[in-house]
Amino acid sequence: MKIGVLASQGAFIEHIEKLRQLGVEATPVRIPEELEGLDGLIIPGGESTSIGRLMRDYKLTRAIRNRVKQGMSVFGTCAGMILMAGKGDDPAFEPLGLMDIAVRRNAFGRQLESFETELNVPALGEKPFPGVFIRAPLVEKVNGTVEVLARLADGTIVAARDGKMLALAFHPELTDDLRFHQYFLEMVSGRE
Ligand code: GLN
Repeated sequence: MKIGVLASQGAFIEHIEKLRQLGVEATPVRIPEELEGLDGLIIPGGESTSIGRLMRDYKLTRAIRNRVKQGMSVFGTCAGMILMAGKGDDPAFEPLGLMDIAVRRNAFGRQLESFETELNVPALGEKPFPGVFIRAPLVEKVNGTVEVLARLADGTIVAARDGKMLALAFHPELTDDLRFHQYFLEMVSGRE
């Protein structure tokens, strides 16, 4: 199994380290050719406007969509989730439209720009997952076949899955908990 991590901008090294800890071949992706032969792609957190523009300029937007049609799985965290959405609220770039979700950027007010909270994620088992939120987006709406995997205590959706697509509003790569990366690998291999 080979997983790529979009390395245009943002927290990609941490994702590569997590994948290597799980014994998986992990490779940075900056140009369309580097998508060849990948079973899965992680789109990291960072600044979605910058990542979105770089993706467009390096012709990655269409290349990623094509690889997804051929069966590649995608896992987006934070800005990565914004880029996977069907509908965004930033006119600066076109989201990939890989998941039928509507997201709102920087959705938590100033005081809550960054926070940590324990999340109940039934798909990962009983133990709560440490949710690290940094200027995070939220999911305003999920449509069609999208499944909600986690919510904050007030009901806000912060994790969702649709088939081979996985999107989180927070940063599992900044914790010691490997379960979301493991879960993605199981999605990729068709075991989850
Ligand atoms: N606030 C960023 C954005 O809107 C996302 C932050 C992050 O990825 N940690 O793109």
